[in-house]
Amino acid sequence: MKTLLTGANGLVGSTISADIKVMGREWVDLRNWSDTYEFFLDSEPTHVIHTAARVGGLGANINHMGEFFYENMMINLNVLEASRKTNVKKVVSFLSTCIFPDNTEYPLTEEVLHDGEPHLSNYGYAYAKRMLEVQSRAYNQQYGISAKEGVITFNGKYLNVIPTNIYGPNDNFNLENSHVIPALIHKCYVAKKSKTDLFVWGSGKPLREFIYSEDVGKLTQLILETYEGEGPIILSTSEEISIREVVRTIADAMKFKGRIVFNANQPDGQARKPTSNFRLKNFAPDFKFTSFKEGIQKTVDWFVKNYEGCRK
Ligand code: GDP
Repeated sequence: MKTLLTGANGLVGSTISADIKVMGREWVDLRNWSDTYEFFLDSEPTHVIHTAARVGGLGANINHMGEFFYENMMINLNVLEASRKTNVKKVVSFLSTCIFPDNTEYPLTEEVLHDGEPHLSNYGYAYAKRMLEVQSRAYNQQYGISAKEGVITFNGKYLNVIPTNIYGPNDNFNLENSHVIPALIHKCYVAKKSKTDLFVWGSGKPLREFIYSEDVGKLTQLILETYEGEGPIILSTSEEISIREVVRTIADAMKFKGRIVFNANQPDGQARKPTSNFRLKNFAPDFKFTSFKEGIQKTVDWFVKNYEGCRK
């Protein structure tokens, strides 16, 4: 087994060990077909974990809608086609729960991925990611198993995972433009240093599901090595946590003793967006998730230690 990992320096990629690591576009420009194909021919992977993507917060998605669509389409088309042409046995690619239909029933299940328009703020990204599922399915159908002169050959398998909100070391900790956990860790750090209040957007009431990056890495490796089923798998603890609890856990981990102020003038976003982890539980019933408290403590410790050099 020789595993190639794309997006190796990212939030999830940095938790996965692999024989060949593609770190970013200076390393190999996955948007470019001949660069990608040549790299696969040279490095000869047997397995691929594909986490690389053009990602960004709300503002970046809105202002670069076309780029998010084009770059993600190209990256995914190239990675899967290069895998196919070089006879890779298994590919696990990353989708995200933020690409699901905006108007849908909860809890989210794998079956409803294509049943309606994604949210208007990120449809470029969302449709490109949805096409990754379509490409994987179509490749499984056409190339997965072939029978020639009575001999059945296994030609490879294309799988997708759909994590909920991932958090952990190596995230983007930008104050304005990152996800709730890294943004609040950074804000709490600043509030503690400058002895000011910690300001939190919204009422604190919305519920979200979070998964620690190392757990995502471990589950992905398990899926790459042993999953024989079809279709995408939602990676989720199915445990809903309120933003209020998120803030408290971060403040405890940071030993922040100041005041926490909820700003109800800022948007709450959706009240909740729960997912079903039925398929995951069926596949890995004994998997032990990192507790939220422990994951936050590890992330806060990492952030404090790496404050100068981290993305922010
Ligand atoms: P997500 O960051 O992609 O999960 O964005 P969501 O809109 O799904 O969830 C963010 C939730 O956290 C919302 O209820 C926000 O009001 C709340 N929140 C509180 N403080 C912050 C913050 O500093 N940054 C962000 N991104 N969200 C915050």
